[in-house]
Amino acid sequence: MDLRLTADELAFRDEFRAFVRDNLPDDIRERMRLGYAPRKDDTVRWQRILNQRRWAAFNWPREYGGPGWTPVQRMIFLEENQLAPAPEVSSFNITMIGPVLIQFGTEEQKRRFLPRAANIDDWWCQGFSEPGAGSDLASLKTAAKRDGDDYVVNGQKIWTSTAHQADWCFCLVRTDFAAKKRQEGISFLLIDMKTPGITVRPIISIDGSHHLNEVFFDEVRVPAENLVGVENKGWDIAKYLLGHERTGIARLGKSKERVKFAKEMAHEMRANGRPLIEDPGFRQRVAQLEVDMKALEITQYRVVSSYEKSEPGKPDPLSSALKIKGTELLQATTELAMDVGGPLAMPDWAQELEALSNEPELGPGWASEATKSYLFLRAASIYGGTNEIQKNILTKAVLGL
Ligand SMILES: Cc1cc2nc3c(=O)[nH]c(=O)nc-3n(C[C@H](O)[C@H](O)[C@H](O)COP(=O)(O)OP(=O)(O)OC[C@H]3O[C@@H](n4cnc5c(N)ncnc54)[C@H](O)[C@@H]3O)c2cc1C
Repeated sequence: MDLRLTADELAFRDEFRAFVRDNLPDDIRERMRLGYAPRKDDTVRWQRILNQRRWAAFNWPREYGGPGWTPVQRMIFLEENQLAPAPEVSSFNITMIGPVLIQFGTEEQKRRFLPRAANIDDWWCQGFSEPGAGSDLASLKTAAKRDGDDYVVNGQKIWTSTAHQADWCFCLVRTDFAAKKRQEGISFLLIDMKTPGITVRPIISIDGSHHLNEVFFDEVRVPAENLVGVENKGWDIAKYLLGHERTGIARLGKSKERVKFAKEMAHEMRANGRPLIEDPGFRQRVAQLEVDMKALEITQYRVVSSYEKSEPGKPDPLSSALKIKGTELLQATTELAMDVGGPLAMPDWAQELEALSNEPELGPGWASEATKSYLFLRAASIYGGTNEIQKNILTKAVLGL
């Protein structure tokens, strides 16, 4: 197997790199470079610019508004986009609900939702996890009872990212409580977040941001036409969604970008009277991270090139290794960026809350953002299937234990 990009792939990379250089709005680029999380408007603006070229829905076939790229092209796109650094396209819209509707949706659902998801005219969120159902998702209890032309939904979701900004939620609900196996009796519903009876309550995370929510459903009426696939067969759809091609799961471009930024800032910061970049301990740490990123890059090539041969929705179980190593590196590289800030990386929570907004920042904005990013990314080894669960998958599927 050749672990290098072909001439065509290199040309593709250069074309996309030039496009980002010429089209990413300067204000977004600067905020992203300094390590700020993209605002909703940043994501929407950039996704729409990409969508004008059919590039936003990067993993969809051409007939549904995507570019029809190969797995390697998709990997290049994601990495270059992260390296720019540009906001990432909405994963809920592009890598979750899009492929699900393409595979399981009715013609009407595809026509109604896909173009809007690609152009982010609808902002989607994912209503899977519940207080008693995370890794053990099949124990979910949110109920949907058929009543005439509607389902009536009652229950609670938790950890719902960006639900407070969302127009629609794709939700797993229980439609049959008497089913023999817990995986049976689950259905996949599309719920308009403006429907009466939905309450969204914020969860403020350790970085001080509002990204997560609890979502409560109280007698929420959902038209039966918003069921995706067959009633009580939603588990198959959930598996397809969770296991859908995991290109980009390692977010290697983001780790590379953070190390590049940390090195840049290490020229400005000082340690023992010298620029930090000259400090042997710092240099060794950077070298180790760069070696680890190279090893992950090679593993990613191997896994992604095998996608060409695998059945859609059934990724190589080795992509679990990409998730584990990728998130470990993401945590290590954001920690590096925070450590470069040293004591200046102490976030000014008061200013964050705008309660005392005339207080001066303790240090440069990038340094406190590095700490917030480090804190938020503690979650990277939890979301998208915890790293312990990924290890279970590897033990069974790869080691055969
Ligand atoms: C930042 C963030 C964003 C999220 N966004 C969303 C979202 O948008 N929509 C959504 O539906 N969910 C979302 N989640 C929820 C996420 O999917 C769950 O947190 C995750 O699946 C783990 O479930 P849990 O939190 O209930 O933990 P649990 O499943 O209770 O796990 C607790 C601990 O036990 C370990 N564990 C559990 N079972 C096993 C096992 N069989 N073997 C070994 N170890 C095990 C876990 O690894 C973990 O360390 C988000 C979570 C976070 C942190």
